Amino acid sequence: MTRELIKINDYVWELPRTGNMRVPGRIYADGDMIAAIRQEDTLIQVANVASLPGILKASMAMPDVHQGYGFPIGGVAAFDWQDGIVSPGGVGYDINCGVRLATTRLAEGDVRPRLEDLVNGLYRNIPSGVGSQGSVKLTERDEKTVLRTGSRWAVENGFGEERDIEHTEEGGVLPGADPGEVSDRAMLRGKKQLGTLGSGNHFLEVGVVDEIYDDTVARSFGLYEGQVTLMIHTGSRGLGYQICDDFLAVMARHVQTLPFDLPDRQLSCAMIQSPQGQRYLSAMACAANYAWANRQILMHLAREVLLNVLHISPRDLAMRLLYDVCHNIAKKEEHLIEGKRRTVCVHRKGATRSFPAGHPAVCAAYRSVGQPVLVPGDMGRASYVLVGTETALAETFGSTCHGAGRVLSRTAAKKAAKGRAIYRELEDKGILVRWTGRGTMAEEMPDAYKDISQVVAVVHGAGLSRKVARLRPMAVVKG
Ligand code: 5GP
Ligand code: MN
Ligand code: MN
Repeated sequence: MTRELIKINDYVWELPRTGNMRVPGRIYADGDMIAAIRQEDTLIQVANVASLPGILKASMAMPDVHQGYGFPIGGVAAFDWQDGIVSPGGVGYDINCGVRLATTRLAEGDVRPRLEDLVNGLYRNIPSGVGSQGSVKLTERDEKTVLRTGSRWAVENGFGEERDIEHTEEGGVLPGADPGEVSDRAMLRGKKQLGTLGSGNHFLEVGVVDEIYDDTVARSFGLYEGQVTLMIHTGSRGLGYQICDDFLAVMARHVQTLPFDLPDRQLSCAMIQSPQGQRYLSAMACAANYAWANRQILMHLAREVLLNVLHISPRDLAMRLLYDVCHNIAKKEEHLIEGKRRTVCVHRKGATRSFPAGHPAVCAAYRSVGQPVLVPGDMGRASYVLVGTETALAETFGSTCHGAGRVLSRTAAKKAAKGRAIYRELEDKGILVRWTGRGTMAEEMPDAYKDISQVVAVVHGAGLSRKVARLRPMAVVKG
């Protein structure tokens, strides 16, 4: 399907309103990316989202956009809190999938000689794979506390420190979480999986700061060239998946009673103010909190491996959580729209919050510079640390990209990897990888993703977040 796009500037394109669209589409991309985006059904998905009740300003796509379930991955859409909808497909199956980055006092040379032991240690000690079961034994009562309190449960049970909570988006807990809205099946799946990485795209990565772009902000974030870092990407595991699935079923029935037609069944939704909408938000908050506890526990487990393998003291390691962001979430936020302060529900599906300096939601440590934005790239090239901006707040409800985004489907990636030993290609570049899933190396190879540097150039150029530092991978554990 060819759709007319209006070029606004080098990085912004508008998909004009047609048919049922209530607002235009707005795509952040460069010319090359736009050519690729036109080849897929992504633009149709952007247009479909623009037709949903209560959508404000525009249906937006970040440069890492690609096709998803109903809503595109890399999409941002905000709905009026009174007259708008909430949609599980606009959050994604992996509720509060997200990224955290920890810094250390180590230099590459401290780690390089023990890299093989380190990657093996991380692989052995951190359960990974589709149905992997956890390092943490939970009673049902504990699990409910996890769902209500998120990172705090983890810290109070020995997995980390108070400061970690402060350095987590929302303080590692979304309000309004009600375990009563979570099905028995979701509870059962969650009970066994806390403290696990999950499959495929999820990872734990030891990296090194390769380049600094903004000295002042880097200093505030505690980043400097040559420093070893730890990045963790995972979410709410089977619990979040089950909650999404449960509510998609509820909403698919419910939406038939509403006075509008959906262009795609995958956009099933409920009015935010309806019982169904409120119940979803309460259950979603439970999954978000579980995901924060999960990443907090994984960081603690990884820290112990680093201490043991390198035979160093906690003081020498000096591991510190820089920040933790979610990139699959719907949030109640206040935004200025055409000069009016409004309460909205921002869906960020494969998109990261990018709040500027001075915003009250940015923790005290970073309030003078802006929120850290963590953008993983792929296991062979790079990842970035960016900082939130006023432009994002004004244009995209304070949002930016969440990664490089897929350029090859999993099937296409498998085909392209035939006859190659991806792990060897990486090893030749000095990157050690361990993985669990049979297809993981092929599906997750660097060329399966867009070039992260190009994606980041777009959000930097468009002003949605500014470059602070680039990281290079050294050792990666994949699900
Ligand atoms: P998603 O949450 O959409 O699955 O993935 C987020 C992003 O993580 C992807 O778009 C991709 O750019 C990035 N990514 C996937 N695997 C890896 C990895 O092993 N290492 C790094 N640094 N980034 C990755
Ligand atoms: Mn993710
Ligand atoms: Mn995920």
